This record gives sequence, C-alpha cells and structure tokens, in this order.
Amino acid sequence: MFKIPHIAPDRLPGVLRLMPKAELHLHIEGTLEPELIFKLAQRNQVQLPYASVEALRAAYDFKDLQSFLDIYYAGASVLLHEQDFFDMAWAYLEKAAADNVVHAEIFFDPQTHTARGVPMETVIKGLHHACQRAHQEFGLSAKLILCFLRHLSEEDAFATLEAALPFRHYFIGVGLDSSELGHPPAKFERVFAKCRELGLHVVAHAGEEGPPEYIRDALDLLKAERIDHGVQAVRDADLMKRLADERVPLTVCPLSNIKLCVFPTLAQHNLKSLLDAGLCVTVNSDDPAYFGGYVNDNYVQLFAALGLEGRHAYQLAFNSFEASFADAAQKKAWEHGLKAFFERLREQD
Ligand SMILES: [Zn+2]
Repeated sequence: MFKIPHIAPDRLPGVLRLMPKAELHLHIEGTLEPELIFKLAQRNQVQLPYASVEALRAAYDFKDLQSFLDIYYAGASVLLHEQDFFDMAWAYLEKAAADNVVHAEIFFDPQTHTARGVPMETVIKGLHHACQRAHQEFGLSAKLILCFLRHLSEEDAFATLEAALPFRHYFIGVGLDSSELGHPPAKFERVFAKCRELGLHVVAHAGEEGPPEYIRDALDLLKAERIDHGVQAVRDADLMKRLADERVPLTVCPLSNIKLCVFPTLAQHNLKSLLDAGLCVTVNSDDPAYFGGYVNDNYVQLFAALGLEGRHAYQLAFNSFEASFADAAQKKAWEHGLKAFFERLREQD
C-alpha cells in the first residue's frame, strides 16, 4: 500500500488545490455565473426577472432542491446560440484547469434548451467545441453526459434521445437529474435500457433528498454505473454494504448539500462515514455558480469542517479517477501522476 506522507494542517489546503483530480458531477448550466447571465441576456436581448447581478445573486438563498431549480431554469433562458453554450462551457473549463482538474465528465440538460426552441445541435456543438479547446490548451480531457430531466415524462426523454442520436459521438453517457422526490428511477427504466443498448454509460442522481430505495432502484432498474449524490445511503445498512462490496462510485457534492439543506452544516456532512465504510466516494461541485464554490472550494471547506487528512485527499482524488469512464490505461496514467504528486510532497518535508 502506498504510504501517504503526513501533511501539516496549514499546508493541506494548498495540497488539495494542487493535486490532480477528476470532476464527475458538474452541471454545465449550473456554472453560469450571474455576470455571464447578464452579459448573455444583453447580447441576446433576453429580459430577466432580476434588475441586476446583485439582485440575482441575492436570490440564491435556497430552502430545498426545488427553490434552486426555479432560479436555475430562469438563468438558463439566456442561452440561445452555439457561441453562448461555448462561452458557458469555456468559462467552467478555464476554472477547472486552474483547479488542477485533469478530467471532467460534464452533465448538460438539453430539454432545458430544446423546450425553448434551441436546436439540439446548437447545444451539443457549442459544448463540444469548448471541450475540444480545453484539451488542446490545457490537456484537460472533458466529456459530455446528456441528462434527462426527471420531472418530465419518459416519452419526452425518448424524444430527447432521438434528437441527440445524430450527435451520438459527442457524448459518452446519459444521466438523470432535476426534481428527485416523486420521480423515482422506475419512471425511466425503458429509456435507460435503450441507452445501454446504444452503448452509452448510464448514471443517475439518487439519494440526494430521495430515500435509499431510489438508490437501489437506480442500480437494479436503470443499471446505473455511478450514483450521483447517494448520501442518503447511510440510512440503509444493507445498501451501504452493497455499495462498498460492488465499489459503486458516489459523486458527492458537499457545498451543494449544505446550500440545499440536505445537511445543516458541513461539519455534519456524512462524507467521512461513507469513506470509512469503504465506499468509492468522490468530491464534486454540482452547480458551482449557485452553491458558492468550484471543486477545490468543496475540498478545502470540507476538509476543514471534518478534520480530514492527507490520506483522505489521496483517496478521494484516486477515487475520482477510478470512478471516471476513461479507459484503463488512462486511469493508470492519472493514478501514477497522483502518486508522483504525493511522493514529491514527501521529498519537500
Ligand atoms: Zn447534480
């Protein structure tokens, strides 16, 4: 077993920021900062129900998932042209590169845009070109995962999949997001079966606000390869054992969980219990423009609140590569780079 050097608490934030990592739970529409929303609104002459950047930011005081989603969809209304989608994704990818993210699997919600008359091609190509440029400029590999909005019907999801198929080579998988409660995984069993037949990876949000059964159903009915959030699993000991035994990755988003009142404070977050139980937990930012921090902020604030150490940092970064959909050789290369990074810390001691 690789021995992690001890890292003094005052050095830990720097280590967390510098270590290479993957981000696997990030909604690109959730990276729209108020400044960019206003810039795009002006460029596209879209009327916003907020008078200023400050008024919009002041509205980011959520009481649950739904109160956030209402503002999130209002913000996305400024996205109309390929350039808008490019600009949004590029702004995120620049931040991700600065956070030493070497690989990102990015969610996008086409239904939020196609419902407003924006063509699927506009959405996917704008995002794809930003991913391509990030690879060229930063060596950051960025892949897209198409998410179905679970508050809409399965029929709508099928129509979305159909519309996206001409661009099949631009995305690697599908996910399931939006309002969880009342929209169980069973609702999307058929469309996920179709996606698996097409060779797409499948993931699903489950157990953020919803019960442990939703996590079990995401695994059994949708055959989800990763669970997004999954923090409610702790309420079910059998499920916890299964997640650990099968090493089902959980993409946990600490600051999001606090902003949406899943836990009262970061010090009460259960990430350490999940890690201690042997689960393949990862740290991610979800909708960073709305939840007060990008991936490094999530690491740094969580580590301070829970008193986590260097070995946890290594494990979480290692998990992020293990849980990614990259091929085995690529994962090995990243894991090697991570080890080398921690080796260098030892030499600096
Ligand atoms: Zn999410």
